[in-house]
Amino acid sequence: IPALLWFRQDLRLADHAAVAALEGRPVLPVHVLEDGPDAPGGAAAWWLHHSLSALGRALAERGAPLLLLRGDPRRLIPELAERIGAAEVHAGRQTEPAARRRDAETHAALEAAGRRLVLHRTALLHEPHLVRTGAGKPFSVYTPFSRAVFTLLEGLPPPLPAPDRLQAAPGAPEGLPLEALGLLPKPPEPDWAAEFHAHWTPGENGAAARLATFLEHGLDGYAARRNEPAAAWGTSGLSPHLHLGEISPRQVWHAARAKGGRGRESFLKELVWREFSHHLLWHRPEMPDTPLRPEFAAFPWQRDAALLRAWQRGRTGYPIVDAGMRQLWRTGWMHNRVRMIAASFLVKHLLQPWQDGAAWFRDTLVDADLAANSASWQWVAGCGADAAPYFRVFNPVLQGETFDPAGTYVRRWCPELARLPDRFIHRPHEAPDTVLHGAGVKLGRDYPAPLIGLAEGRARALAAFATVKGTE
Ligand code: FAD
Repeated sequence: IPALLWFRQDLRLADHAAVAALEGRPVLPVHVLEDGPDAPGGAAAWWLHHSLSALGRALAERGAPLLLLRGDPRRLIPELAERIGAAEVHAGRQTEPAARRRDAETHAALEAAGRRLVLHRTALLHEPHLVRTGAGKPFSVYTPFSRAVFTLLEGLPPPLPAPDRLQAAPGAPEGLPLEALGLLPKPPEPDWAAEFHAHWTPGENGAAARLATFLEHGLDGYAARRNEPAAAWGTSGLSPHLHLGEISPRQVWHAARAKGGRGRESFLKELVWREFSHHLLWHRPEMPDTPLRPEFAAFPWQRDAALLRAWQRGRTGYPIVDAGMRQLWRTGWMHNRVRMIAASFLVKHLLQPWQDGAAWFRDTLVDADLAANSASWQWVAGCGADAAPYFRVFNPVLQGETFDPAGTYVRRWCPELARLPDRFIHRPHEAPDTVLHGAGVKLGRDYPAPLIGLAEGRARALAAFATVKGTE
């Protein structure tokens, strides 16, 4: 009996439980581009286009081409199952609230016709609904969660191989050509993704190649260098591949364990942060919009479109923040340390709501992931589960000097500052005129003066916090 193989955030063939479950049976692989709350932002849509292209090629080579559709899966999937006489639809489980609702409704529509939706674990190392505290509750603190997950993963089975061949189910309708999904920037929109290809190779092969290079050049030094934004292979850059499931966390986990070396444990811990974000989203579906600490609902944000725009464009006057925001715009990715600094500057020094920053990240990150993004923004803003305490305000100048001491990262992304001496690279506003002149920089013309003084911004943030603290 044929089955539908519905690809969503698991665009790969290796270590794919749904693919493996259907081996030897006629299948129709399908992807449905949905509009609505989970539609990918601009940069993630670019990635999705190229990832679908890679998956389409891999499936065609194995004999079962990928069908592309656009619209509401609650209607399209049951219709398709009916058309090819499929009794089952197999897919990977997702944690996003809208995706869970859509799956429940699709399952109900299928069931009404005597069919079913079978969900497999394809995206996570753990099942969010099965990992519980001793008291039987979901976790809200990372350390005990990671202890539980590490114990669970002791017996993690090895990854599944990709099938050599797939048997195509007969009767597939005509799908859409990939271009018709409209995922790439199109004129008159500027081609903001022009540089992306220089940094990324979306697809399963690109993911495997990146993992191999990271294991070779990055894993050993990971613990020491993961906070240096200028370091080559300081981190893996696997996040966009993991987000769309071009590689499974189990493949990454086993490969890193097998490789060994000094950076291994701290790298595995980051993979568990990813699990933790999804665990939180599963149990707190309000996380993308609503502070997990309820007292923060009354936080006195001072929404200001001009400040938000200056931050988005990398024009705050603080080089490490601006370098990060420009790296994000040009490559679709930003180093984790700089994400923390830039996010903290927005919500604390500029008093802009974290939801506005998260929305910009969702539109510009190639790895935009509802769980990791909202958990991280809430963490930075101090309102999340297990968040950084609000009163710990990152100083962007000191952070820059600590993690980018020679200013290599700043010079790469803010070339107008490239000739400043190291001493002033993170604090151009403090440089004497002669130094600025010698470096060819005029503040306010070539590079902005700071949007706000650090002491003033910090004091204002703490005063704002004091107004909600009383309600704790
Ligand atoms: P590595 O250091 O190589 O880590 C390996 C993998 O672990 C990553 O690919 C990622 O899947 C996971 N990981 C690492 N750190 C975290 C973390 N703090 N939380 C969850 N998972 C983590 N990550 C996203 O994948 N998507 C997002 O939309 C996202 N938004 C963020 C927003 C803010 C404000 C902050 C501070 C962090 C955000 N992160 C997000 C987490 C982190 O910055 C990225 O996962 C990381 O920078 C990706 O680079 P990498 O693959 O080289 O990471």
